[in-house]
This record gives sequence, structure tokens and C-alpha cells, in this order.
Amino acid sequence: MAKNYYEILGVDKSSSAQEIKKAYRKLAHKYHPDKQGGDETKFKEVNEAYQVLSDPQKKSQYDQFGSTFDQAGGGAGGFSGQGFDFSDLFGQGGFNFSGGSAGGFEDVFSDIFGGGRSQGRTQRGRDIHLEVTLSLKEAHEGVRKTISVTKQAECDHCHGSGAEPGSGTKTCPTCDGQGTITRQVRTMLGTFAQRETCSTCHGKGTIPEKNCTVCGGDGVNQKNEDLEISIPAGMSTGQTLEIPGKGEAAPHGGRPGNVYVTVTVENSSQFERRGEDLYQTIDIPFSKLVLGGKVEVETIDSEVTLTVPKQTQSGEVFRLRGKGMHRLHGRGLGDMYVTLRAQTPTNLSRKQKNLIKELQKEGL
Ligand SMILES: [Zn+2]
Ligand SMILES: [Zn+2]
Repeated sequence: MAKNYYEILGVDKSSSAQEIKKAYRKLAHKYHPDKQGGDETKFKEVNEAYQVLSDPQKKSQYDQFGSTFDQAGGGAGGFSGQGFDFSDLFGQGGFNFSGGSAGGFEDVFSDIFGGGRSQGRTQRGRDIHLEVTLSLKEAHEGVRKTISVTKQAECDHCHGSGAEPGSGTKTCPTCDGQGTITRQVRTMLGTFAQRETCSTCHGKGTIPEKNCTVCGGDGVNQKNEDLEISIPAGMSTGQTLEIPGKGEAAPHGGRPGNVYVTVTVENSSQFERRGEDLYQTIDIPFSKLVLGGKVEVETIDSEVTLTVPKQTQSGEVFRLRGKGMHRLHGRGLGDMYVTLRAQTPTNLSRKQKNLIKELQKEGL
């Protein structure tokens, strides 16, 4: 019965790659033979377990069959696991593993086991970064914008397959249908077999008999496209919206990139925005501040009536609850703060002037 690699690393099948890596690093550190209390046997076990569980393809083989094909002697994988002889690595003197400093043991290991291998099996499309300017009202209500972009998009002729429609496929001659090629890598620790995605078939194992005559086999070409962008209510200047999968298409059927839209909200001459709240100042006649009354107040999307109590001081601030900006993600609305200010009248008629004089005599 094969060893339980999950048990060895103290993780379980649902653990993420990150968790597995973390567990491995911790144990490799602990059992390192050059350390006091190190344990070479356990150390080898830990490394063997990590070698399998850190490789998505081997891990899935192991999960399914309880071993990897390499160990079983099958020829399915390109990685010759038997080539790992750890006594070669750690038996020799003169090489100091107990680094701990930069460039120490763990870095060497991650170069061998983690670095670069099996990553980016297929290329991901590029991200597109856009900038959009909104009026304050648009920021409040949310808005749909159509933006024309030039981008790599799926080829219409072959629908991204890269094959001329009607043509068949054949086994990739470079990798002989494996999708991967094995490369011998020499390091100071010995020679390792490193598996890489085949660059001819991009891991598929097959290639078209005839490449698409429009895109030349990449499955993508340059196009102008109208992007429909739905900007949610409540965004502020500097915030960025992510639209997954709407970026450039990747050649050879890889994942498309994302679109990132960074928002700028224009200043309004009427309202000052502070977070989700809006501020405005309204000039009203002195008499209304003294006697009280009603004032029509424009909000961002409607109008409300504000009741002014009698003997209100100029400069007094009133809060209109829920009359501010929409909060992002539908979490209600901010408030509006209205400052009432006494308006000094100009161009007075003779009668008005006389009345003001009367007031003045009364000490007002
Ligand atoms: Zn094409
Ligand atoms: Zn190939």
C-alpha cells in the first residue's frame, strides 16, 4: 500500500495548494537533517509527499489511484520519479543546507520543486484597463456605458480552436501526444527530470491538420469590440471595477483576461460629496430665517421641502436623512446636509429700502 502523503504532511484532500506548501515548508524545516533533532527519513518522506501533492496532475493521479503512474512504472507521465535520490542531495559534505538566510535551503528546494513547473499550462489573456468619468448623478444612480476597445478576441472563423474548419487533428509530433515534454535540468544537487507543457500543442497533445487561415492557428485575432459596462450605484473617484473574463482572449484556448474600470466622478457645482453624504448651501431671505417657512431643496435625484423653524440662525445646518448618495452594493443611502444662509438683498426698491431702515431703527 502506498504511503499516505496527506497524513505525512498533516493536510487533507481539501487543503489548498497554499496550505500544502505551508505544511511542507514547516515540516521540511523541522526534519531537516542538518538541524538539531532533524530526521533524515522523515525528511525524505515529507519531500516525497510534497513532490506529489504539489503537482496538480500527480496529485489527481494519486487521489484516484493511490499512487502516481511514475511509481507504478506506467508511462503516462513524463516525470521519472525514480530519479530522485535524496541521499545524493544530503549525503555529500561541504554543502551547507542550514541556510535560513536568503538563498538558503528552502529557496533551493522551491526552485527544484515549485518553481515554474506545471505553471501556466495555457497562457492567460491580457487584462484591459479602462478609465471612465461619471457625473455625480451617474455615480449616484449607477449607469451603463458602452466603451469601444481594440483587443485580442476569439477568431470567428475557427471559434478559437486554431484549426481550419473541416480539417482534422493529428498527434503532436513534438510531444508524441503527451502534451508535455521532459527536460533534464542540471543543478548543483544533481540532475532532475522536469516536465514542461509542450509548446507546439500547448498541452493538448494534438495539433490541427491545417491551421486556421484567418488567425494562423492562434485562435485569436485583433478586433474592435463594444464593451458594455454596468457601473453600480455608489462608486467614488479612484475605485476600480473588475469585470472578469472580458479582457483579451488568450491564444490556444487559455483563459481570457479581465477588464478593470477605474472611475473618476466629476465635481458638481451644486453638491459637495463627502463619502456617501452630500452637502449644499442654500441662500434664503433673512425674513424666512426669522419667521420660519418652507424651502424647496433640490436633492441629487428629486426635490424635497424643508421646513425652516422660526428664528433660525444663518449658517445653521439641517440634515435630510437618506437624501445623500447611494452606498455601493445597495447598502442604503447617505444623508444630505443643507446649510441655510441669509441672503443679503441687492437692487432694493425705494419701499424695500425704507422698510429695512425701519428695521434698523428697531435694532434689527
Ligand atoms: Zn482562427
Ligand atoms: Zn505537443
